Amino acid sequence: MSKHIAIIGGGYLGFGLAKSLDDSAEVTLIEPRSHFVHASAMIRTVVDPSLLDQALIPYDNLLKNGQVLRARAMGIDARGVTLDNGQTVKADYIIVATGSSNAMPFKPDGDDIEGLRQAHQRIHAQLRAAKSVGIVGAGAVGTELAGEIAHAMPDKKITLITDADRLFPTMPRKLGKALAGKLQDAGVTLLLGKRAANLQSLTEPYAGSLKLSDGTEHMFDLIFPALGSRAHSGLLESLPGAQKSTANRVKVDAWMRPSSLPNVFAAGDVADAGDGMTIIASSRQLPWLSATLKGLMAGKSLNDMKPYKPWGPKAPILVPLGPKRGNSFLGLFTAGDFLTRKLKGEDLFLKRYNKLLNRG
Ligand SMILES: Cc1cc2nc3c(=O)[nH]c(=O)nc-3n(C[C@H](O)[C@H](O)[C@H](O)COP(=O)(O)OP(=O)(O)OC[C@H]3O[C@@H](n4cnc5c(N)ncnc54)[C@H](O)[C@@H]3O)c2cc1C
Repeated sequence: MSKHIAIIGGGYLGFGLAKSLDDSAEVTLIEPRSHFVHASAMIRTVVDPSLLDQALIPYDNLLKNGQVLRARAMGIDARGVTLDNGQTVKADYIIVATGSSNAMPFKPDGDDIEGLRQAHQRIHAQLRAAKSVGIVGAGAVGTELAGEIAHAMPDKKITLITDADRLFPTMPRKLGKALAGKLQDAGVTLLLGKRAANLQSLTEPYAGSLKLSDGTEHMFDLIFPALGSRAHSGLLESLPGAQKSTANRVKVDAWMRPSSLPNVFAAGDVADAGDGMTIIASSRQLPWLSATLKGLMAGKSLNDMKPYKPWGPKAPILVPLGPKRGNSFLGLFTAGDFLTRKLKGEDLFLKRYNKLLNRG
């Protein structure tokens, strides 16, 4: 008899895992949003809202055999998942892939896809009207946003602010140096080593002034907070033995289990398995988890299978600055405009994800 697998969260990890197990088990994917949100494209949609329809992809055609339940999981135990409508989904294995939130307009607030569309319209209009733009946080999102705006709207005065003393300080030096040079070429002002002391919102753009840690004050027509993601770990926190790590994530063991419950797994942004909070990390965890669950269903024990091995310092990263320029670290070397454009900048994986979700 085939086993029942409940997957909570239809982000990169959850939808991909559901699809990979659709022929091998009875899969239920629990996801409250009507559409998958393709994060990689959500930065360019701020300057080009016509891309939004391609970046928001309905779940309707995802599974052939299993089901996508439009619901929010409220609790889990070893036997299954309780939903916000009171229903219980019984499962032999449960995978928690509830991901993370980020500021508007990069990810929706909760389940509200329509609210995300409206926020996009509003913020795009504010951006068009703005002369000066401040971006606080120079991780991948802040850096890409500066590059996208500089490319699409070269008349804007853009300032990128970070408390780190260089871009991408944990990556090989060449990557941050090359990106900083290209941003400066495009007219972006970089304020490095400075912390914004009075951010009024961590969740959406606003007009105002920023006081920096060096005592200076800067007025902007629009300030984008881009300070990183926070994991949705509420479901995992109360499980026996669960331990929080940074950014609200929960630690997992070498077989991606967040607690002492042997049949509950966690992966993607919510799980601290030693990887960053990236799609690249999910793309390594997904085949491992899929193969491990298939092994368990075939009667193997976890100890007979290889534990998960995170990327480590060689994790790749692709940072386009608009559709033409950018740099990437590809594990062994830092690539420039051509490879970054071909691998990501040109179409931001839009075709790939629309195809993976079987959009008609
Ligand atoms: C603007 C932006 C651009 C990015 N670009 C890149 C990039 O180009 N490359 C890269 O490697 N990384 C990128 N990232 C990081 C990437 O988006 C995340 O690592 C990725 O989304 C994590 O996937 P996930 O499946 O763990 O979670 P998510 O994609 O966050 O999905 C989690 C899902 O779980 C659902 N959920 C939450 N709680 C519940 C619940 N209780 N019940 C049921 N469902 C629930 C949510 O509705 C959501 O659909 C980007 C991030 C942002 C913000």
